[in-house]
Amino acid sequence: MAERLAILGGQPIRTIPFLNRKTMGTNEIEAATRVINSEILSGFLAAPGSFFNGGKEVKAFEKSWAEKYGFKHAISVNSWTSGLMVAVGAVGIKPGDEVICSPYSMSASATAALFYGGIPVFADLDPETFCLDPKSIEEKITSKTKAIIVVHLFGGPADMDSIMKIAKPRGIKVIEDCAQAPGVFYKNKAIGAIGDIGGFSFNFHKHIHCGEGGLLVTNDDELAFRAQLIRNHGENCFDLSKLSDLGNVIGGNYRLTEIQAAIAFEQLKKLEDILERRQTLAKYLNERLSKINGISVKEVEEGSTHAYYMYPFRFHEDIFGISRNLFLRAVSAELPKPSNWETTPLAEGYVKPLYLNDIYQQKIAIGTKGFPFNVNKEVNYDYSKGICPVTEKLYYQEMLYSPLVREPLSIEDMKDFVDAIEKVINNIDQLKNSDLNNGTDEIHDAVKAVEDVGTTK
Ligand SMILES: *Cc1c(COP(=O)(O)O)cnc(C)c1O
Repeated sequence: MAERLAILGGQPIRTIPFLNRKTMGTNEIEAATRVINSEILSGFLAAPGSFFNGGKEVKAFEKSWAEKYGFKHAISVNSWTSGLMVAVGAVGIKPGDEVICSPYSMSASATAALFYGGIPVFADLDPETFCLDPKSIEEKITSKTKAIIVVHLFGGPADMDSIMKIAKPRGIKVIEDCAQAPGVFYKNKAIGAIGDIGGFSFNFHKHIHCGEGGLLVTNDDELAFRAQLIRNHGENCFDLSKLSDLGNVIGGNYRLTEIQAAIAFEQLKKLEDILERRQTLAKYLNERLSKINGISVKEVEEGSTHAYYMYPFRFHEDIFGISRNLFLRAVSAELPKPSNWETTPLAEGYVKPLYLNDIYQQKIAIGTKGFPFNVNKEVNYDYSKGICPVTEKLYYQEMLYSPLVREPLSIEDMKDFVDAIEKVINNIDQLKNSDLNNGTDEIHDAVKAVEDVGTTK
């Protein structure tokens, strides 16, 4: 006998709320207090000398990250959006250069190029990894391509071997956006500096955080020096004799404060436990969900790891015979109502393909006359719907993801989550035959998920 689905008035699988994350402990409080008592809340000075690269806490945090993962240089910044801009500047992007970007990411993964007059050219994704598809990258390369910004989406590594094989011989720089993938390995190598330069985000929602913050990593001395210049008013640094050219040396203030660095230092100590917890939860989800016909999950390859910023999986509407949105609503009804974005059990779509945003549709980024899209007069950059069919299919039809794959949640919590999914699937005829199956769905993407629950705890 079928159980009644909660969305149709039946008993839900679970009503007890999922626990919120608790990220700050006594170590962070003591670290912040120590800095406050020292009176030195920032150790930076925009002048030549040892203060140019920050204070004690900033340097200690950078050193601990670099040593832990074997990077030659680590350069902290006040956000990873700043970090991406610094990286784009450091690799020497100039107006009219094309930068190949992922259309399925946080917007800064592409807008970073625009700040230097670079033109984002969107390549399509591998539907299994949700990261750039090397074949699509190759198709988008022109003589103007100067960089590729690779996003390791949701914490799973992109196919870096193939991407480097394409980029290296052509002298194209590779920037790795590892915002969602701290501490992740690709074929036993720490991601971040497999390409030329890359980095991490420490905003409030990321695995580890200090409110806002970011970190660049690279094994290239000149890129590191350029990044340091851009971070802190490089034009004020008088010893630029080492540089072959002074392009993009103009700096911002992208400096991390001492309090943030001290907190981030403590947070880094927790990263391995956080990753282990998420990997354990994801393994359980993979085991159960991979058995369901109509749901695709992806395991990481030998030697690689996944950080599970979110737990992504694909939904095949044609097999289930109901829309993804109706499925999502039915599963959500079996579970407690979210108190914040992180307790949303299930979300769909993730983010609208970036090229559909107005800055690309109207081709206006800096000023009002179409800059930088009009720099290459002979090229008409195409941002129309349809240019990245795999990405659009993920957004409009296939992508489901859960933010529940995180500490302090347990296997018991994951069990409730999968039980809710199975209950809906086992009773899918109730949905097919209900008034709810009326095709009036709206995509409930990341933006809507946040709007629904608000951003406060
Ligand atoms: C969070 C994030 C960013 C931006 O990082 P901030 O520190 O918030 O500026 C960039 N790219 C991706 C993929 C992200 O998830």
